[in-house]
Amino acid sequence: MRPVERGAAPKAYKDYNLALNDLYERIGRGCSYCERKYSGAVEHMLPKGRHTGLATTWSNFLLACANCNSIKNKQQNAGVAGNAGAALGQYLWPDTDNTALAFDYSRGAIGVSAAVPAALVNVAQATMVMTGFHRLPHTGNPPKSRKDLRWKERNEAWDLAERKALQLASRPSPELRETIAELAAATGFWSVWRTVFAADADMLGRLNREFKGTAPTCFDPTTFQAVQRQGGQL
Ligand SMILES: [Zn+2]
Repeated sequence: MRPVERGAAPKAYKDYNLALNDLYERIGRGCSYCERKYSGAVEHMLPKGRHTGLATTWSNFLLACANCNSIKNKQQNAGVAGNAGAALGQYLWPDTDNTALAFDYSRGAIGVSAAVPAALVNVAQATMVMTGFHRLPHTGNPPKSRKDLRWKERNEAWDLAERKALQLASRPSPELRETIAELAAATGFWSVWRTVFAADADMLGRLNREFKGTAPTCFDPTTFQAVQRQGGQL
């Protein structure tokens, strides 16, 4: 999950839908949770039904695809007050935490990273369950709907990223590096590209720059390794 910085509110909104284009400009077009490239909708971190005062508040906005949004809604409406989604601190968030430290991505699974302190493991786990972005067939967390193809798009990103890594190894050039970073941003799934190019600090920097709104303070400026986010849980 890519950590983002959406910045100060560009303006006040009478209707939250009017913030969609400003969100695209600030954090790029794609789902803030599963990272698929998607013309999603304005997402309310704290649900607007339960927190009506936050329905048009910029700092409560992210972007979500239909699958993440639907699962998150079910989670957050599953019970009474005090249920999942009642408080921000129950989850990690890409705008306040360094979510790049939270999860490990591989083709076989997405899981809570060993780097997550013991006190936050349950919070990180709850963050995955909140939108089910880790659902993958033939694992302990399979998709529950045939319409949930997030895993498939993610696997396509793996295929592409691995092909491009081989290409770069066989004929390295700064131009190809930039082309790959641009292709990554057009494809989505920053975490997949970041995992494939994990040993290449130059590529990690390019990926951060090409994916709009990646939070610069979440990374060492030279190695682009993820660091604790100031003010965040992680
Ligand atoms: Zn999503």
